[in-house]
Amino acid sequence: MSVYGETNTSPLSYALHLLPKIELHCHMGGTITPKTWAYLAKKNSVSIPGGPADIFSRISSGWPQGFDFSNTKIPMVWHEDPNADRAISLHKVFDWLNACMKDHEDFALVAYECAKDAFEKSNIVYQEVFVGLTNLLTMHGLQYPQIIDGLIDGCQRAEKEFGIKTRLICGISRHFPASVGMQIVDLMIANPRDEVIGIGLDGQETAGAPEHYVEVYRKAQSNGLKTTAHTAEHVPGWENAVTCLEVLQCDRLDHGYFALEDDDAVKKCVDSGIHFTCACTTSRRQWQPWRRASIGKMVELGFNISLCADDPSMFPTTLSREYAVAHEEIGLNAAQMKRIWLAPIEGSWMGDGEKRDLRRQFLQQAEAMKTFENVTYRNGE
Ligand SMILES: [Zn+2]
Repeated sequence: MSVYGETNTSPLSYALHLLPKIELHCHMGGTITPKTWAYLAKKNSVSIPGGPADIFSRISSGWPQGFDFSNTKIPMVWHEDPNADRAISLHKVFDWLNACMKDHEDFALVAYECAKDAFEKSNIVYQEVFVGLTNLLTMHGLQYPQIIDGLIDGCQRAEKEFGIKTRLICGISRHFPASVGMQIVDLMIANPRDEVIGIGLDGQETAGAPEHYVEVYRKAQSNGLKTTAHTAEHVPGWENAVTCLEVLQCDRLDHGYFALEDDDAVKKCVDSGIHFTCACTTSRRQWQPWRRASIGKMVELGFNISLCADDPSMFPTTLSREYAVAHEEIGLNAAQMKRIWLAPIEGSWMGDGEKRDLRRQFLQQAEAMKTFENVTYRNGE
């Protein structure tokens, strides 16, 4: 029987599906369902170039320029994409989606459904979600409080109904200069909200080197905001991972697969213990086998990773499905899956007390369900 699409559901995958989970990397815009996108477009009289479900099925970003010069040590496998000749870039689809959200109620609806789906489809009890602020603020003339307070209202409604807690990360797109990132950090500082806890560089990685944003990161960090960055995901090279680790001094990193190219970069990532959020499913459909092999290698080499669904509505996937893929397709064993399941508690930006409580609860539930019965528990691990 197949519950998760392309994978067969093993007993461990099903048990992990039932267990509570944490997700530290998904994009609010990437959780909007085709139905809700159609509703928002109609409500706000915005025309979109096709049916939402069809557009999502055609998202497929290609290989970046220069990829052939990569030193990647992971075998490259070309995966046929039946929609390659009709492909639409992920970033283009985000532009279309962003244009359809206009007021407080729109943002509240999107955030509520993001949290509801996370809880109902994958039993996520805590999530840290990116908001694509750069585009919303610069391209559509919206105000920061209008966006953020709408999202917070939706998150709070979902927390009341389902118990899931959502915290927000303001996305800083590298498609824009660092001055725009600085404006976002200034807005966050001028409009503090408990639910908005950090920033994260996102967008197409070839558009802007992370070192351009060092002042933005310093300002965020000196004002108590946490920091992450999408890195070593699109650029064929390990350098951005080390820059984000050592120059931007991020609290955690998103993706990071190209770090595997260089032994020193691997050592720095592993020795620092920095947390990476990794997605088995990607808009670069042709890269998928390489992506999955890279995640397997990262685990084997001792990277501290968790799994994420990134843009679950678009690909489509769920966090539960990402766990199933990691176990059944990548071949991670029960002990590795247990480590990955617990890792985002520590990798999250919640308080120490909350982390301790959640870890205790997670372990109690796993023991009650005998999820990892072949895994030895040591010192409450
Ligand atoms: Zn992402």
